[in-house]
Amino acid sequence: MTARLFNRRTLLVAGGQAALLAGLAGAPVLAAPKFLEDPFSLGVASGDPTPDGFVIWTRLAPRPLEPHGGMPAELVELAWEVAEDDGFRRIVRAGTAFARPELAHAVHVEVFGLGSHRRYWYRFVVDGIRSDTGTVRTAPAAGAAVDRLRIAVAGCQQYERGLFTAWRHIGQEADLDFVYHYGDYIYEGKAAGSAAAGQVPIVRRHTGDEIYSLDDYRQRYALYKVDPDLRAAHAAAAFLPSFDDHEVENDWAGDLDSSRTPPEIFRLRRAAAMQAWYEHMPVRPSQFPQYGLPRAYRRLDFGRLLRVNLLDKRSYRSIRLCERPGDGNCVDRRDHPDTMLGEAQERWLGEGLDGGATWNMLGLGGLVMPFDRSAQKVPSNGFDNWTGYPDARERLLAMIRDRKLDNVVITGGDSHMFFIGHLPSRRDDLESAPAATELHATSISSTSSNGMPIGPDPRAATNPHMATIHDQRGYLLCDIDAKGWSASLRVVDQVLTPGGAISTLARYGIRPDRPGVSRL
Ligand code: FE
Ligand code: CA
Repeated sequence: MTARLFNRRTLLVAGGQAALLAGLAGAPVLAAPKFLEDPFSLGVASGDPTPDGFVIWTRLAPRPLEPHGGMPAELVELAWEVAEDDGFRRIVRAGTAFARPELAHAVHVEVFGLGSHRRYWYRFVVDGIRSDTGTVRTAPAAGAAVDRLRIAVAGCQQYERGLFTAWRHIGQEADLDFVYHYGDYIYEGKAAGSAAAGQVPIVRRHTGDEIYSLDDYRQRYALYKVDPDLRAAHAAAAFLPSFDDHEVENDWAGDLDSSRTPPEIFRLRRAAAMQAWYEHMPVRPSQFPQYGLPRAYRRLDFGRLLRVNLLDKRSYRSIRLCERPGDGNCVDRRDHPDTMLGEAQERWLGEGLDGGATWNMLGLGGLVMPFDRSAQKVPSNGFDNWTGYPDARERLLAMIRDRKLDNVVITGGDSHMFFIGHLPSRRDDLESAPAATELHATSISSTSSNGMPIGPDPRAATNPHMATIHDQRGYLLCDIDAKGWSASLRVVDQVLTPGGAISTLARYGIRPDRPGVSRL
């Protein structure tokens, strides 16, 4: 159908064209707007690769910070192309997709029928305007021996606290198979005031107030996604998106926020936040939110080398333990065993944890290892992470032990610091044998808030199971083969002005037959 709808919104209309309406009764009203501004201001993205495909994403938003991204409330058809070369001479898949006003004119196209472990290029076209070109590699074939995989682990990108320089560098890492984004893709707070500016440097500000409505969340994603460094990272590799708390609200747990909001009211906010998360992430339609919650936990296989279990540690967890006096929606003690993943997800994890791959990666988000904080000046107890869910951690340990797995690598982030070490096998004995390796990535730009000095961390002395505790912005880069997993701690020297330089702080090696890390 090539209907041209004369658009009422002068923003989009070049002017002078006659209107032609799609004539069929009951057919969707298709708009073919003339764009005066780049409709691809939020870039492109790809995600969740399988052996024969991936999902590609974009959102039409000619004025990204305006309501509806400056789009008319109409269905718009756009074209997509996937090629074997960056010049699009060998196009192997192509089609059209509807950008719907219900989903902020975001599109999620699942591409199938491609070769395994091969690089492809993709782009979108609307009104003759081309998007950025993105590149993405499919996963290796099921059961295939795989020479090598390279992945990055990143997250926690508070926009006001630092530039997205680390994203620029991730986009320049050669040959990434995927980026696991463990969450805190946006932060929900209002624009930083001058008080905050006195304590931590503010490099740019959120627009407006704390976000609550669907339009608020959409606008916040747009603010983050127009950043050229983040756009470049998305264009360079597939993402495996997850979420943490700040995609909704600080420290939320299941149906409860961290103040005293009644659960039925918080669920409305969470539903708006989750719709916006779905709209802005390159996830598959199988992650579409049902009754306000996306099905975010899922499993991806990369031949015989790597099984990735992505977990949702927010939506199904038990009520929080109170961290601070006066906290709302929390308890001082629970009268049932706690859960971090909820019963269904925990069972699902157990059923698929041992798939026979050389490596089992658990994208568990928050810090799972116990952490002795006694040397800390600013008290905090870590109850938002697995320390506040000791029964869940014991069951996770038992799950690994029962399957006699030595190849589990837990990864995530959310502390805004690197923690590299292992989960000890016995509760309350940090010197007991390692049960699983843990690689906890630092933040892209969010700052840690414990008032600890930069440099040697005084908490290292009482945490023998941790090889590194380090506070600097960056990400994890992992090179994985059948003999070993090498984790590079990539750090940027500063994120307050453009052009921060990247370097490797340290590299750690892991063997698939023995949990724990050794310095390379
Ligand atoms: Fe964070
Ligand atoms: Ca967090």
